Amino acid sequence: MKTYWQNYIDGTWCDGGAGRIDVINPGTGEKLAEQALADAGDVDRAVMAARRVHLSGALSDLRPVERGRMVRAMGRYLLDHIDEIAPVLTLEQGKPLWEARIEVEGAARYFEYYGNQAETVEGRSIPLGKDYFDFTTYEPFGVSAQIIPWNYPVEMTARSLSAALATGNTCVIKTPELTPLSNAWFAQAAEAVGLPKGAVNILCGLGHQTGAALSAHPHVNQIVFTGSVPTGIAIATAAAQNVVPCVLELGGKSAAIVHDDADLAAFENDVRWGIYFNAGQVCSAMSRVIVHDSVHDELVDRMVGVAQSLTVKPGVEQPEFGPTMGAMVSEGQRDRAAQMVSDAEMQGAKVATGGRKLNIPGAFLEPTILTDVTPDMTVANEEVFGPVLSVLKFSSDDEAIKIANNTAYGLVGGVFTSNLDRATRAARHLRAGQVFVNEWYAGGVETPFGGYGKSGYGREKGREALWNYVQTKNVAIRLKG
Ligand code: NAD
Repeated sequence: MKTYWQNYIDGTWCDGGAGRIDVINPGTGEKLAEQALADAGDVDRAVMAARRVHLSGALSDLRPVERGRMVRAMGRYLLDHIDEIAPVLTLEQGKPLWEARIEVEGAARYFEYYGNQAETVEGRSIPLGKDYFDFTTYEPFGVSAQIIPWNYPVEMTARSLSAALATGNTCVIKTPELTPLSNAWFAQAAEAVGLPKGAVNILCGLGHQTGAALSAHPHVNQIVFTGSVPTGIAIATAAAQNVVPCVLELGGKSAAIVHDDADLAAFENDVRWGIYFNAGQVCSAMSRVIVHDSVHDELVDRMVGVAQSLTVKPGVEQPEFGPTMGAMVSEGQRDRAAQMVSDAEMQGAKVATGGRKLNIPGAFLEPTILTDVTPDMTVANEEVFGPVLSVLKFSSDDEAIKIANNTAYGLVGGVFTSNLDRATRAARHLRAGQVFVNEWYAGGVETPFGGYGKSGYGREKGREALWNYVQTKNVAIRLKG
């Protein structure tokens, strides 16, 4: 593996004005590589290159089917290089190798989906009487700035980059400082499919420097951000200063309501994926289970069984799909999660299983389940962003909804029941952008995703996401005679 990774600006690999940063392997705690760090000058060069390509019309003037073909080809490039990308992603992020492969496949799927959508963005004609001919068109904003989180660096870049390119925008990507390496393949893919130099720029830098410089740049026309609430507020504030739109995806404290008529055996699978996939570092993780009193003890036994069935070890030692979990992204994030578990115990929660750091090098935390959690506790309200599940109880349907809606977030929610009326009522009353009935993470690239409340605004995925990247123009023509 390369020991030094550069930024990619205007079609050229280059050093960063802010020096380098060490990238640490969270599976061992050892240094993996160095990454060039961009400064505000690098950001400016990247934005101006993207602006030049935008103004040239090299992307926006293309017939959409041609852009769509290039976007789809980027996805195929990722799949063709999955054996190179997945190990790097595992080494920098900590996830099992089989999960890294799923992430690369998921990224490729975004390029397939939005490549196919490119030619579906159509305007309409509005009748204004016989003396006028009127139509709307959708035009790309121009330069799309995309600030990427460390939990799914490949999939999150793919999500915004594919839709932005499909609609004719040019892009500047700010990769996360903890996991910047695997984004290099997007630059290679852009080159391989024949995108003009400067259409895709990928640089790493510190959030408060490079991220801030990018979100405040006067020639950025649209911003996409996934990450924490405080950073989202900083970015939205910068966007407001320049009067540009932004999409914010800011995490959640999402709840599954499990009724007494739910299939408890099937729910074990939802626990496995809902809170232990990517070691719980998922914005839409099932971080709370709100369970009916009468089935609480049985469900806790089952969930503890799931948690204890997982083997936790370095991601590179997990090539095969199976009951395994990797490291968290960093020792800092792991310590934060472990501290939240200790604080929850102080507030009266009980550790049903897990809760401890593994006594080996690396950022490992045991798969954890907390019971006796009440809605007022910190752990019931704040995102742990780790493999920590909080269990709360309810005794009536209304109470369950009330508890589920009790946080400032509202990303996703779930209801598990065999009663269709109950499920439908819950779906209506849950304050969340997406509701899963009887399967956590039901849906896909095709289904819109985004938050209510402090989980953010705007929608990613699905056809809804296309509208983040285009602005409407109306053309009204006065006919003669
Ligand atoms: P963060 O929000 O600080 O960082 C996310 C991205 O924003 C990184 O690329 C970072 O460099 C950049 N950034 C940071 N400050 C910036 C600024 N002032 N202007 C512009 N860009 C800036 O998140 P974090 O510190 O990496 O993680 C902290 C918490 O955020 C986590 O514990 C978790 O709760 C949440 N998080 C959520 C998601 C999600 O998918 N919703 C992803 C990552 C982190």
